[in-house]
Amino acid sequence: MRAPCRQRTVPVRVGTVTVGGGAPVVVQSMTNTDTADAAATAAQVAELFLAGSELVRITVNSQEAAAAVPEIRRRLDDLGLRVPLIGDFHYNGHVLLTKHPDCARTLDKYRINPGNVGKGAAHDRNFATMVQVAIDHDKPVRIGVNAGSLDQELLNSLMEANAKLNEPQDATGVFLEAMVRSAIQSAQAAEELGLARDHILLSVKISRVQELARVYRELAARTDHALHLGLTEAGMGMKGIVASTAGLALLLQQGIGDTIRVSLTPEPGSSRTQEVRVAQQILQAMEIRPFLPQVTACPGCGRTTSTYFQELSQQVEKFLHERMPVWKRTIPQAATLQVAVMGCVVNGPGESKAAHLGISLPGTGEEPRAPVYEDGVQVATLHGPTLAQQFLARIEAYVERMA
Ligand code: SF4
Repeated sequence: MRAPCRQRTVPVRVGTVTVGGGAPVVVQSMTNTDTADAAATAAQVAELFLAGSELVRITVNSQEAAAAVPEIRRRLDDLGLRVPLIGDFHYNGHVLLTKHPDCARTLDKYRINPGNVGKGAAHDRNFATMVQVAIDHDKPVRIGVNAGSLDQELLNSLMEANAKLNEPQDATGVFLEAMVRSAIQSAQAAEELGLARDHILLSVKISRVQELARVYRELAARTDHALHLGLTEAGMGMKGIVASTAGLALLLQQGIGDTIRVSLTPEPGSSRTQEVRVAQQILQAMEIRPFLPQVTACPGCGRTTSTYFQELSQQVEKFLHERMPVWKRTIPQAATLQVAVMGCVVNGPGESKAAHLGISLPGTGEEPRAPVYEDGVQVATLHGPTLAQQFLARIEAYVERMA
């Protein structure tokens, strides 16, 4: 059910990356540095890219930010990082893109929010100016509608028309319809101005999970433009991760979404890359794209008498995280590896046999020996103080055999 919907979207080339048309779902992220600070922004783009973000968006909100974009690109090129850069424009994009042609040329895609390009005649004029710059520089555009900045003129006209109906829709329904129409009508306007169909992506982001599912289903049913998917303003920590996962999973399962972004608010001082890792984990858990070997570990219970089993699970996770960047260059299929670390004989052998490689540690009252399974067959029994090292060596050897 997933593939047909994604395969029918029009593919869009963003720098070196293809989005839509059945291409693998792309992970993207956004910086939170002041773009005018080219050194800090280039460093964060590099960090996000190296963490796995295949596209990175930067705010372009001022003359200084626009002027810094070519310098950011130079710094990334000097590091050998060909990460596509997307410029995020609100209010003054028409001015910045025309006054800073180097910025317009350097960016690989522009994000235009149709709710933030002006009102009345200025709206159409400013929108047309940005689209013309995209045409002149052969750049794709994301028409990114957001619930927090929805085109109020469009919303008001739909609300008025709805109020006159014999059976009016509820206010949420009208609001979501306005989001879909804003995206579709803006895309039609861009095409009429001359922007090619394969240069347009759409998004309709909102911060509530059920409304996100509703609005994207409606949009996907009414367009074949490639879709950028994300729960906007997802929030902090566990709430943000769970809400993003719930919203994105609902839609990805239906084949909706060609590129995803997880909009987490980072804890003060924590790395921005968490949103990239969460996006990868969502795609991996949904079996849409593998990024990293997965560890199946039981939660532990009264049968596990020490923390050893938790420590071993953690050691295995750390080992896989450290080794995957190396394997990625020579044995990329290592990303599909499944490892089981289990706490006792109840489910240990079963889960270990189901994984490529698994270990079943002894629980309370069991003999202090840990059978190891590879491809469903017991190949060793480990014990003693070097058990962890021996198991990690077996993982390394298994991956080498995958080459
Ligand atoms: S596998 Fe054993 S230790 Fe792990 S949760 Fe199940 S019963 Fe408990």
